[in-house]
Amino acid sequence: MVSGFHQRVREIYFVIRMEYLFDRWGEVERALAPGALLLLDYDGTLTPIVERPELAILSPDMKKLLKRVSRHYTLGIISGRSLTGVKELVGLEGIYYAGNHGFEISGPGVELVKPEAERVRPTLIKICEELRAKLGNIKGTIVEDKGSTASVHYRLVAEGEFERLKNIFEEVVGPHMDSGTVRVTHGKKVFEIRPNVEWDKGEAVLWLSSVVDPKGELTPVYIGDDRTDEDAFLALREMGVTILVSEGPMESNAKYFIKNVDEVKAFFERLINLQTQK
Ligand SMILES: [Mg+2]
Repeated sequence: MVSGFHQRVREIYFVIRMEYLFDRWGEVERALAPGALLLLDYDGTLTPIVERPELAILSPDMKKLLKRVSRHYTLGIISGRSLTGVKELVGLEGIYYAGNHGFEISGPGVELVKPEAERVRPTLIKICEELRAKLGNIKGTIVEDKGSTASVHYRLVAEGEFERLKNIFEEVVGPHMDSGTVRVTHGKKVFEIRPNVEWDKGEAVLWLSSVVDPKGELTPVYIGDDRTDEDAFLALREMGVTILVSEGPMESNAKYFIKNVDEVKAFFERLINLQTQK
């Protein structure tokens, strides 16, 4: 148990340690000099967080920017969405995509489907059916079966209903957690159910960078906004440029923060300028 005092000290430590990216631009520019492998989360990073997941459409100017960035840098999108879902939303050819928190990865010369994901599939189907049946009367709940993982979104659920939702969720998913089949992570107004194996966005980005850049010549850059991105921040912390999208410094494994999606765009513009001004 962490005491209130120690918790507070820990928070202050993290908040002091995080730097606003554009205040440290010289340092970042030096880190990127060898070239960069750009790894980006989707929701909350390339699009603002929206009420329903299907409304998170890439804006035309973000899409154009990404396309320009991809001419100069190796690009990968690392999302909790299904692989086909995130590919469709981004719609760029010739870049890397990791879906389902990295359980499925594809791109030029790369195809990976983690076998654990297929093994857990029957359990996930059962869980989703049961959740849909039991959460059906809680207005605003969205149960999303993404193949290798599943999500329960509750952004639209009334605050007074959350406790009931959580109890039903635990009642349905708990036994499968106890049996060691699945595990659960908690993001922004979403529960994620995934195979219980040591594989997350952190493992996925390390794997992808070892395949795409086997000699380790490029500097990995990771941008994300949510708790599942913390695994990637931690994995790349010592060797890369890790950036949290957040209005201010927070307790995070990322070294830098930028405030919102517009600043992500500003960062991309700077990246393009670094290449075109050479
Ligand atoms: Mg996100």
